[in-house]
Amino acid sequence: MTSAWIDTHCHLDAPEFAADVQAVRARAAAGGVARCVIPAVAVAHFEAVKTLAHQLDDAYALGIHPLRAREAAPDALAQVQAALQASAADARLVAVGEIGLDYFAPDLAAPGPLRARQEQLFRGQLQLARQQALPVILHVRRSADAVLKALRQTGCTAGGIAHAFAGSRQQAGQFLDLGFKLGFGGAVTYARATRLRDLAKRLPLDALVLETDAPDMPPHWLYTPAGARAAGQPQGRNEPGELPRIAQVIAALRGIDSRALAEAAWANAMAALPRLAQIGGNTTCGPADAECGENGRLFFRVGRCGGFGQ
Ligand SMILES: [Zn+2]
Repeated sequence: MTSAWIDTHCHLDAPEFAADVQAVRARAAAGGVARCVIPAVAVAHFEAVKTLAHQLDDAYALGIHPLRAREAAPDALAQVQAALQASAADARLVAVGEIGLDYFAPDLAAPGPLRARQEQLFRGQLQLARQQALPVILHVRRSADAVLKALRQTGCTAGGIAHAFAGSRQQAGQFLDLGFKLGFGGAVTYARATRLRDLAKRLPLDALVLETDAPDMPPHWLYTPAGARAAGQPQGRNEPGELPRIAQVIAALRGIDSRALAEAAWANAMAALPRLAQIGGNTTCGPADAECGENGRLFFRVGRCGGFGQ
């Protein structure tokens, strides 16, 4: 029996999927991935993520990624606000995201106008999320304390997901205290990721949501080492269909079966992004109906999107 999964972070609008997004989504559905959340990274992607979410029976988020602060227009915040308002009644809009702070990229981390711009965009989008009473999907890279501070200072209390969480146990606790869930994906599949694996093992089960961050963050079985890449072998493309196998790794770390993890992760995703429960059609496909990946409904659902890409 196949469990039902939600990939809470999956960039199906990325150019890597342009040629075969339907096949990618159908493969994921066949593996039991009932829903994908497609976060935007820039205003130019807003239409695409919304359209894809509707065509694929999935969900989306609207926001400007911190790495895209580099080219954000001067009125970018006003554009995000207008887009959020225009989609306010759309149940498939489940969050503001992907937003956050990236202090890994040297140009964005060094004190100066770019760092100030990403911080301004982040805080502005937190305020928009608050106005719209929407949760947020957070990009947190070498920035957990600054992100936590901004959440507290802006009074952004609708919660959401700290995606690709890689902070300390203490930082994890602070996100959980603010009502967030923590996103775990392909990074936990690497044996050397001892601290992350320890977190995935020891955090309360109600803290975790699952994600692939596809096409990025390949699990170890898709990873091409630097040497092989230098020799011309491409990096493996991650897909939402990898989620069940990634989940198996987390379930094994925790010593539970993957069905128990699926049920908990499903409930956690619904708690973090409550609008997921309002999307029509397949919402009965939850823990109580976990064999839905096999009963044909999902295949029919994806098959209906035959017009996509034309
Ligand atoms: Zn992302």
